Amino acid sequence: MQEPGCKENYPTAIVIGSNLLSLLIYGIGAFILFRFGIIWVIGYVFFILILEFRLLSGHCVDCFYYGKTCAFGKGRLSSMFFQKGNPEKFSQMTLTWKDIIPDFLMFMIPVLAGILLLIQEFTWIVFILIITLFLLGFLGNALVRGQLACRYCKQREIGCPAERLFNKTKKS
Ligand code: SF4
Repeated sequence: MQEPGCKENYPTAIVIGSNLLSLLIYGIGAFILFRFGIIWVIGYVFFILILEFRLLSGHCVDCFYYGKTCAFGKGRLSSMFFQKGNPEKFSQMTLTWKDIIPDFLMFMIPVLAGILLLIQEFTWIVFILIITLFLLGFLGNALVRGQLACRYCKQREIGCPAERLFNKTKKS
């Protein structure tokens, strides 16, 4: 089957769809952690902000989409706050599973917190939210990346360490 063409700038609908998934994950995560106290929610938000900062300042600056509309709108956001980096660095970078553990933690922390709540006292609402979070974190992310983001990504053609990592796993 022929590969779909790459997008120089992604349409707004894709940017909204991709970000809606993240916002849904963060919202459900914060709701579960709120059961433990507001301090946990503040810690969670702080953790998300650190990861976003790391992405925008350390990776988006080197990406083909710096200053353009990528699937997540972060290429434009990054160019508002940070200087352009070195595009060659992006494709030459090596990514391992260890590097993406923090991204998994964004939804796994609330999932584990929810399981702890269930052990203390079973409630259907927490049970459903844990399942939803688990599905959004794994399937939702795979769907957004596979069908909306990576599928039309110019940086994938140039060279993307994340794409190489996931493809290697698929092939092995
Ligand atoms: S291929 Fe996917 S992970 Fe890599 S830069 Fe493009 S959208 Fe991001």
